[in-house]
Amino acid sequence: MKNLQELFEHQIKDLYSAETQLIAALPKMAENASDSKLQKAFTDHLEETKQQKTRLKEICDELDIKPGGEKCKAMEGLIKEAEGFIDEAETDEVMDAGLIAEAQRVEHYEISGYGTAVRFAKELGHSDIAKKLQKTLDEEYDADNKLDKLAEGRLNKKAKA
Ligand code: FE
Ligand code: FE
Ligand code: FE
Ligand code: ZN
Repeated sequence: MKNLQELFEHQIKDLYSAETQLIAALPKMAENASDSKLQKAFTDHLEETKQQKTRLKEICDELDIKPGGEKCKAMEGLIKEAEGFIDEAETDEVMDAGLIAEAQRVEHYEISGYGTAVRFAKELGHSDIAKKLQKTLDEEYDADNKLDKLAEGRLNKKAKA
């Protein structure tokens, strides 16, 4: 990589790999959630994630680059952690609390990645691409906030019991 444009293209491919891995992993997280609202949060975000991958493909087309060839090792690690946790959870309550924790790590990683990508796109003068990336960034924030609310709701319920 010898300039910001090449670094930007690298980051786009990394995000493409991250979203691809997440599309494969989210169904297992949804299946294991016992709370129906949490289950719905995962399946809703799965559909959004598919659109996010499509957006990145469109961005690659606009940049005239191939989306493949990069593996996001951080997302690979986050997913491994989540899957390891699923095997260890012994109660529904622990499962749901832990799934939220693992999913929020993923969302925060994506927020960081898309935040950088939006800034690079703007600096490079790719304003349409910046708008597309911003749309995804907003969805990642919304997903994270939804998980925050579910975590709080669960804790409140537990406190009242
Ligand atoms: Fe995403
Ligand atoms: Fe990455
Ligand atoms: Fe996400
Ligand atoms: Zn958060």
